[in-house]
Amino acid sequence: PAAKILARQAARESAARTYARHLPIVPVRAQGSWITGADGRDYLDCLSGAGTLALGHNHPAVLAAIREVLDSGAPLHVLDLATPVKDDFTSALLEALPPELAADCRVHFAGPTGADAVEAAVKLARTATGRRGVFAFTGAYHGMTAGALALTGANAVREPAVAGDAFLTRLPFPHPYRCPFGLGGALGEGASAAYVRTLLSDPHSGTAVPAAVVVEPVQGEGGVVPAPDGWLRALRATTAEHGVPLIADEVQTGFGRTGTLFGVDHAGVVPDVMVLSKAVGGGLPLAVVVYRAELDRWSEGAHTGTFRGNQLAMAAGAATIRHILAENLAARAAELGERLTTRLTRYQARHPLLGQIRGRGLMLGMEIVDPHATPDALGALPAAPLTARRLRAELLSRGVIAELGGRHAAVLRLLPPLTLADDEADHLMTTLHQALDAVAD
Ligand code: PMP
Repeated sequence: PAAKILARQAARESAARTYARHLPIVPVRAQGSWITGADGRDYLDCLSGAGTLALGHNHPAVLAAIREVLDSGAPLHVLDLATPVKDDFTSALLEALPPELAADCRVHFAGPTGADAVEAAVKLARTATGRRGVFAFTGAYHGMTAGALALTGANAVREPAVAGDAFLTRLPFPHPYRCPFGLGGALGEGASAAYVRTLLSDPHSGTAVPAAVVVEPVQGEGGVVPAPDGWLRALRATTAEHGVPLIADEVQTGFGRTGTLFGVDHAGVVPDVMVLSKAVGGGLPLAVVVYRAELDRWSEGAHTGTFRGNQLAMAAGAATIRHILAENLAARAAELGERLTTRLTRYQARHPLLGQIRGRGLMLGMEIVDPHATPDALGALPAAPLTARRLRAELLSRGVIAELGGRHAAVLRLLPPLTLADDEADHLMTTLHQALDAVAD
């Protein structure tokens, strides 16, 4: 039946389907870190719904929370009305947030997806500041919607949201490796920070002060590139100085993934706006924007949406957040991440196709490079996307699910559940070792 299902899906679904092509399995059951396919095989899931499943699949606490709502007879869909489930979710969320932000913030339920929340955050910043521009970084990923509001006719809601490159200024993200600007390490950090400062403060920069600066504390889809702590602190200081709201996109980095509760915690930075999705809904669709109360300048109905009150997602999210806090899973992610990074670094001696190993906590990436090529001026070997694809396939054939990312789609990304057990981490490393041997020339 698996082959039949895969073939039918290929025939019926859009050509844009992606994961189903790279990972031709038919999941029928899942528990913890494992997915069982229709072929009866078990797969270690190091993709976790693109980093969504912080507690792995079907965690008992999450299932119990969902069942409780289902069995209680509570309404499952109520737009954004007040409910006990939402009240409880909001309390759990406030417990987890950085205390400086939680002390005086507002919570906006933005819709089911991370992209919804990014759009809401930008629109909020535009409304609050009366400005239009947005600064974002090279390598950034914030979602796939292209300003749905640009198509909308109602001026009042549309005005602060009109999307498009005309309002976007793209800034260089400091890149530690294969820096596209030829500036590695501290040099790149300093140059990027100075560039932002110049755009905001130099009357000859030719760039208007923007409504917001949007940043990922660790770029995920961009190839698992952590923002250097000092650089993020400089960005915070500069934006604060010029009254520009700093939006941290914590869709992927939030809730323990990077070894601290939020990605910005590594730098000790408190953003003005935090965009949350993925783990915030415990595996069900939910997205939230949290921001300093003083930015709450939009009028009633300025930002609406039908599916902003998913009760099951809120229940699953509350259970997930509480479990992450109670079990200190952020610290566990930090510890496991370090252990995995140490082993991967050791593997580099045996596997020259392993380039830079990056990431934080259980958000890890390794560049797959061509060891036979000539390094560039900064000592980086060229990316090897074909080898990376073969590696992903070799991993899958050995029962490990992982994805690729980065500018050349040559970064193998690992996003296992935060609940990954020690023996599962060992299994992952052993399998990776074998898969690397299999693709070595
Ligand atoms: N921001 C970041 C940092 C993301 O990683 C993603 C999704 N990978 C998004 C936004 C968009 O989220 P969604 O796919 O739910 O729209």
